Amino acid sequence: MRLRAYEGRAAAIAGMGKDPVNEAMIRHWCEAMGDTNPAYEGPDAVAPPTMLQVWTMGGLSGHVARSDAYEELLGLLDEAGYTSVVATDCEQEYLRPLRPGDEITFDAVIESVSERKTTKLGTGHFVTTRMDVRAGGEPAGTHRFRILKYAPTRRKPTVRRPRPVVNRDNAGFWEGVGRHQLLIQRCGACGVLRFPWLPGCGACGCLEWDTVEASGDGTVYSYVVMHHPPFPAFSPPYAVALIELAEGVRMVSNVIGVPYDKVRIGMPVRLQFDRYDEELVLPVFRGGDSRDLGGRAEGGER
Ligand code: ZN
Repeated sequence: MRLRAYEGRAAAIAGMGKDPVNEAMIRHWCEAMGDTNPAYEGPDAVAPPTMLQVWTMGGLSGHVARSDAYEELLGLLDEAGYTSVVATDCEQEYLRPLRPGDEITFDAVIESVSERKTTKLGTGHFVTTRMDVRAGGEPAGTHRFRILKYAPTRRKPTVRRPRPVVNRDNAGFWEGVGRHQLLIQRCGACGVLRFPWLPGCGACGCLEWDTVEASGDGTVYSYVVMHHPPFPAFSPPYAVALIELAEGVRMVSNVIGVPYDKVRIGMPVRLQFDRYDEELVLPVFRGGDSRDLGGRAEGGER
């Protein structure tokens, strides 16, 4: 296959980080992520490993020139009708910690071009690039990035709710939802509860965990009323709330059973599981008269 000839060719050559690894960008990242791990502060600070790609990004003005080979490959795919693109996933490996002052350089290679695949979005080819990131000339990590170049499927618009993204970090949560259980992760070392699901404890870093089932009681911690933009599966206006569960963690969900303009901060709500279509069940929260609570599972009102 002609596309395969691009495997192993450069996607970007001799890239240089715009800034060395630095405390200010680390602090902004940690604040945005809500990550208070002490390893990322102080005189011996390291950068959060997941910032690997950040140090290679060109910002709005850009600076990473795609190689001719990569441009040619994308051009061939465009000519073949695969004119749409979606980023599908990325994987990172960390070889050594990055510290303030590290100067970043990188190269990227076209690692693979898949056979033609048919997906729900349409038919196309997955293109995987691998970026090798160095700090002071030493290997520091790799960042694999996969896109799908595809020809969109023409079909009548559906009005189904978007599907949740289920991955290995949150699969247990969605399995719980399938059994009508709202599961909260509990750290195996310090016992702190966390939501949404994450591989490690934000308080102590421990990777061991089990789950506790939420009682289903909660209150509206905050909310917004969505008027615009309209999404096909939703009929605005509707309330999207941050629910504080009785266990103390918070989750984003819909408040149902109450007109959108009657939702209030502090309002008691009760968990129920609503079915939206043949495959989608979501935890939502019913507000309003406490005598109505419970016994309305799968009600579908929203
Ligand atoms: Zn912990």
